[in-house]
Amino acid sequence: MSGKTILVWFRNDLRIHDNEILLEATRKADKVLPVYCFDPFYFSTTAYGLQKTGGVRTRFLLESVADLRLNLRKLGGELVIVTGDPAELIPQLAQQYQVSEVYHHREVAVQETAISEAVETALWKIKLNLRHFIGHTLYHKEDLPFPIKDIPDSFTLFKKKIERDSNVRPCFETPGRIETPEIAEPGPLPSYAELGISPPFDDSRADFQYQGGETTALQQMHRYIQMLDHSPQPKNAKYHTDNPSRLSAWISLGCLSQRIIYHEAMKLTQGTNASGSTLIIELLWRDYFRFMFKKYGRQFFNAEGFKTEAPEAAVNQHCLFEQWTQGHTGVPYIDAAIHELNATGYINNFKRQAVAAFLVNNLKVEWLKGAAFFEEKLIDYSPASNWGNWAFIAGVANDTRDDRYFPGAKQAAKLETDSDFINTWLADSSSELIIA
Ligand SMILES: Cc1cc2nc3c(=O)[nH]c(=O)nc-3n(C[C@H](O)[C@H](O)[C@H](O)COP(=O)(O)OP(=O)(O)OC[C@H]3O[C@@H](n4cnc5c(N)ncnc54)[C@H](O)[C@@H]3O)c2cc1C
Repeated sequence: MSGKTILVWFRNDLRIHDNEILLEATRKADKVLPVYCFDPFYFSTTAYGLQKTGGVRTRFLLESVADLRLNLRKLGGELVIVTGDPAELIPQLAQQYQVSEVYHHREVAVQETAISEAVETALWKIKLNLRHFIGHTLYHKEDLPFPIKDIPDSFTLFKKKIERDSNVRPCFETPGRIETPEIAEPGPLPSYAELGISPPFDDSRADFQYQGGETTALQQMHRYIQMLDHSPQPKNAKYHTDNPSRLSAWISLGCLSQRIIYHEAMKLTQGTNASGSTLIIELLWRDYFRFMFKKYGRQFFNAEGFKTEAPEAAVNQHCLFEQWTQGHTGVPYIDAAIHELNATGYINNFKRQAVAAFLVNNLKVEWLKGAAFFEEKLIDYSPASNWGNWAFIAGVANDTRDDRYFPGAKQAAKLETDSDFINTWLADSSSELIIA
């Protein structure tokens, strides 16, 4: 083997567009070795007895990795797929292919950074460097108008300052060609059985069909932006609220860069399309939680969060939690939303707020349990967005003043629902109202 080879370790950046590590590797090395590692840790059971990754998201991930492989092949490259501990496998591959450096995008949540650290330590032992890139946010960390430690805790202030004093960088270009070393066995996608996950069941009531991968992500983005452009009420921001983009699952796995969405949406806002601006504000929420995780780290995973004590918990919270997870609370709106989540992996932001507020405020169940349930079920699970939003709803976050959040759980009983998933609830005669 001659020339320099760089190993590109794909994690939550499963795309070839706007991908700095891929582009930089093609510029700095003669050969690039793209690798995806299915880490059994992500398919294990959490402290709450729930799966870290449920069937719906597992399928979405498998599809996304398969699509990445196809896209890399179109550029003349190949994706090596392995299953096991990245701290063992990445150094092994690095030695096998005589790579001189490993690139990856820096993660922000505790478990994710612990994995990077383990890989970095193992690489050091063979005298190799793990180079960290920043690439998961809309605004680049280095372009923020404040250091991480001074990022405003208030979303409103964060948004105001960032919009005034910072700019979103342009997208990185897609490499024209990728030379990979000769690979004898690029490795198959693991089966559901190998990952220990039951394949998902397609529920006919789902109103949206997800398919993982950058190809469908870009299609959905263009379809959505076009829809906003042709929206009958271009000045009405509510259009977006009632018709969310559904882009979150692709964004979370990095099949879609936030920058590309931003630049496409900006084309609309320049034409004063309010829905385009709303979409950009939603993306800012994502950045906000990610930067908050960078600032505070582990604190978002503690029951008391930023307060002195955790919210009150009912003595029978275990049983109430079970009822909630099964959509058996007796409150039609809540139960229909949970059935929808269990069946499809997606519910919109309002429903997420409603079911979370109901669990915490009405049922008085520890919010960490609800967050862990979402971690298993959501097709778009992303640590900072999930635990950050849950901490807000539980009233233990660093900025509880924002009035965007679901105002009162008592309202849940008054919410009407015409969801198709209500049928599941009606068919279940054992459901009784468990709140006063
Ligand atoms: C309790 C709770 C848990 C959540 N867990 C997650 C999660 O694990 N992963 C996740 O991506 N989102 C999470 N959200 C945020 C939000 O509900 C989803 O991002 C959104 O519903 C996804 O649908 P969409 O792509 O159609 O969103 P759109 O409304 O079209 O918004 C566009 C994008 O902006 C981002 N966004 C919008 N709202 C938020 C928000 N409140 N916080 C962070 N980002 C936001 C998402 O990337 C989304 O794709 C959670 C919200 C709550 C209340």
